[in-house]
Amino acid sequence: MNIILFGPPGAGKGTQAQFIVKKHNYFQLSTGQLLRNETKQKTALGKEIEKLISNGKFVSDEIVDSLLKQSITNLKFRDRIIFDGYPRNVEQAINLEKILSEFDQNIGRIIFLNVARDIIEKRIMGRMTCEKCNMILNAFFNKSEIELHPCGKEYLVKRIDDNLETIIERYDTYINTTKPVLDFYLKNENFYTIDGNAEIEEITSKINKILTV
Ligand SMILES: [Zn+2]
Repeated sequence: MNIILFGPPGAGKGTQAQFIVKKHNYFQLSTGQLLRNETKQKTALGKEIEKLISNGKFVSDEIVDSLLKQSITNLKFRDRIIFDGYPRNVEQAINLEKILSEFDQNIGRIIFLNVARDIIEKRIMGRMTCEKCNMILNAFFNKSEIELHPCGKEYLVKRIDDNLETIIERYDTYINTTKPVLDFYLKNENFYTIDGNAEIEEITSKINKILTV
């Protein structure tokens, strides 16, 4: 079954998506990734996308849809896609259902990581990356792991792009723009809300349960 993973920036969506990819053998599909793959392959469409992006223009829904179709029809990913950061609006949501049903697939789980604004702030402010092994830890939530990190504490650095104001702005925008999409899925029997204020491991185990029921 295909999965939609929702959540505001800083909700730990990436971490959880990685878990699903590894543990349940899924393919993570985000719009950004789709666009990057296409430009990397230097197809005609890829070149068009590159031009649009370098001119600071938006890539149209039509282009994104055609790329989505390519992945959805790829037998390798059949019924094993996590949609990450997609759909962003109701039109895309309706369209996604249409494309999936055309190829005899559906969305089996819609998971919303619901996280309060102040928790997001802490997560973002505390985020640290190990320069040696690339592990991501959090000064607020992983205190003991930081002390015991095998590479040594001195390799853990705060990420410089963590501008709280920008991220909080993104959070608010996200909540506002995704609200209609959430309302759209709310009545779906496969919709699950997870309290994303919990510890990362706890969220992971909740997701695991949702995926195995
Ligand atoms: Zn390390």
